[in-house]
Amino acid sequence: MLFDLSPELAELQATCRKLAQERVAPRAREIDTTEEYPQDLFDLFVDTGLTGLCIPEELGGSGAGILGLTLAIEEVAKYSQSAALMLLLTRLATGPVMIAGNDEQQRRYVTPIATGEQRAAFGLSEPQAGSDVMGMRTRARRDGDDWILSGTKCWMSGVRQADWYCVFAKTGPVESRAHDSVTAFIVERSWPGVDVGRVDKKMGVRGVDTGELVLDEVRVPAANVIGEVGGFRLAMLGLNSMRPIVAARGIGLAEGALMYAVEYVKQREAFEQRIADFQGIQWKIAELAAEIEAARLLTYRAAWMADRGQFTKEWVPYLSIAKYYATEIAVKVSGEALQMLGAAGYMQDHPLELYYRDAKQLTIVEGTSQVQLGLIGRGVLDHHLWWD
Ligand SMILES: Cc1cc2nc3c(=O)[nH]c(=O)nc-3n(C[C@H](O)[C@H](O)[C@H](O)COP(=O)(O)OP(=O)(O)OC[C@H]3O[C@@H](n4cnc5c(N)ncnc54)[C@H](O)[C@@H]3O)c2cc1C
Repeated sequence: MLFDLSPELAELQATCRKLAQERVAPRAREIDTTEEYPQDLFDLFVDTGLTGLCIPEELGGSGAGILGLTLAIEEVAKYSQSAALMLLLTRLATGPVMIAGNDEQQRRYVTPIATGEQRAAFGLSEPQAGSDVMGMRTRARRDGDDWILSGTKCWMSGVRQADWYCVFAKTGPVESRAHDSVTAFIVERSWPGVDVGRVDKKMGVRGVDTGELVLDEVRVPAANVIGEVGGFRLAMLGLNSMRPIVAARGIGLAEGALMYAVEYVKQREAFEQRIADFQGIQWKIAELAAEIEAARLLTYRAAWMADRGQFTKEWVPYLSIAKYYATEIAVKVSGEALQMLGAAGYMQDHPLELYYRDAKQLTIVEGTSQVQLGLIGRGVLDHHLWWD
C-alpha cells in the first residue's frame, strides 16, 4: 500500500497550491460580494491546463484523472468554493459522455471543455424531483430521426455560462418510475427552444449561478443520445464517479477554515494568555484535524477507485462515504472555526462567515447527506461494504 502521490501529481498539487494562494485567495471575497462569475479565474484555469485535468490526453486533456482533479479542487477550495465549483463543472456534465458517449460525441463536446473553448452543465433535478429523480417530468418524444424535449430543469450550476447541457429526460411514459424510462441527451445552448429561466438567489457559492434550464419543444438529433435509450444507470454512474470530486470541495474548505482559525487563536489573547494555549481550544483543533485527515484519506481513496473504473454499484458505499463525511466535516469545521474567532468570525472582515455559508450547499448537491446514508446503508446490507 502506497500513500505517496506520484511525482506528477505532487507537482500538480504544488502548482495548484501556489495558484490558489496567489490568484484565487485574493479574489474570494469580491466574488461573493459582487456575485459575478469570475471569468478571470476561468481564463487562468484554461491557461494552466486545469480545465482538462480529468479529460484523457487523446481528447485534449492532461489525463490527470479524477485524483488529479480532486487534488486541484482541494487546493482551490481552501479559498473559494465558486472557483472550486468551476473546476468541478469540467467533469459533471462530461462524465456521462466520457463513460458512455461515442467517439464523435467525445470529440465534439468533451475536447472543447478541456481546451476551455466551451463550458457545460448538468440537468437532472426538477422542481418536484430532486432526491427522487425518477419523479422527473421532462419529456422526450421521438420524431423521425430526432427527439423533441420539453420540460424545466432547476438549480443547475453554471446554467448561464454553459454552451451545452447533459440533460436527463423521460423517453418512456412520464409517470413511469422504471429506470429504462430515462435517457441522457446532449443539448446545445444555441438550439431553438433552449432558454435559461429563473436564476436563484443563493446563500453561498455566489460566483457561479444556479438556475433553470427551460426546454420548449427542443429538437435534439438521435446522435445526441448519450449511451442507450433508457439508460438511467448512466446518471448514477456519472454521479458515483463524482463523489470524490465533491468531497474535495469539502476537505479543501475545512482545511482553509481551520488553518485560518488556528493562525487567529495564536495571536488573539483572552484572560491574559493566547487563546491557542487553552486546552479546550487545542482539543477542538485536534478533533477537527483528525476529522479532516480521515475525510482526506476517504476522498483520495474514492478518487483512486473512480480512476480504476470502480464506480459501479458494488463500489457505491466507499464513494458515498467520502462524499457524506467530507461534506459534513466541511459544515462542522467551518462552524467551529468561526466560533474560534468569536465576533470577528461573524463579520465580513474575516472569511469564516463565507466558508460557513458556502459549506452548507455541499451536503445538498449531487445527493444529500441523507441520500448518501441510504446508499451506504444499502451497500452494507448487501455486503458491498463488509469486513469479513
Ligand atoms: C447550490 C446548488 C447547486 C445545484 N446544482 C445542481 C446541478 O448542477 N444539477 C442538478 O441537476 N441539480 C443541482 N442541484 C440540485 C440538487 O442535486 C438537489 O437539491 C438535491 O438532489 C436534493 O433535492 P431537493 O433539493 O429536491 O431535496 P428533496 O429531495 O426535496 O429533499 C428534501 C430533504 O428531504 C431529505 N430526503 C429526501 N428523500 C429522503 C429519504 N428517502 N430519506 C431521508 N431523507 C430524505 C433530503 O435529504 C433533504 O434533506 C443543486 C442544488 C444546490 C443547492
